[in-house]
Amino acid sequence: MEHDKGHAHGHIEYRYCPRCGGGLEKRILKVIEPARLVCEKCSFIFYLDPKVIAGTIFTINGRVALLRRGVEPAFGKWVFPGGYVDRGESVRDAAIRETREEANVEVRLRGLLNVYSYPRSPNVIVVYAAEVVSGELQACDESVEAGAFGPAEIPWEELGFDSTRDALQDYLRLYLSSKT
Ligand SMILES: [Zn+2]
Repeated sequence: MEHDKGHAHGHIEYRYCPRCGGGLEKRILKVIEPARLVCEKCSFIFYLDPKVIAGTIFTINGRVALLRRGVEPAFGKWVFPGGYVDRGESVRDAAIRETREEANVEVRLRGLLNVYSYPRSPNVIVVYAAEVVSGELQACDESVEAGAFGPAEIPWEELGFDSTRDALQDYLRLYLSSKT
């Protein structure tokens, strides 16, 4: 399974046509759209589509489960479980699968928390509020440590990504505010 959490994917420079191996060049095809990579030989247009990431936020005894990343980018920072949706996989299934792979727990999705995206980032992050059905929280795959944080203990200065911060803020407001 591909597990490159290449949050920097948008910076890769593609040089060759995936269809015929010809050289790619940047061309303006429509004046109101960004330049596209077009094959000089077969005219294939290589659209750089967004990448979809699915993740979950859930609590264990009222504390938010987070994982410390053991890989770049954001090495050593805290994130909620998540990863790339495979083509042909449902976003909901991907969120559950990534949570199982990274945090060692089976979750049931309670509802869509929100969708997060940022200018110049290739990633679209779909985050679900979830609840644990079985399993014991444990760091695995690309995480090196698992932790559970009370609403007042979230390590805001050590979070991995903008989406980590924004989704946790939404989660605390929507799901934990009555308990604080
Ligand atoms: Zn080509």
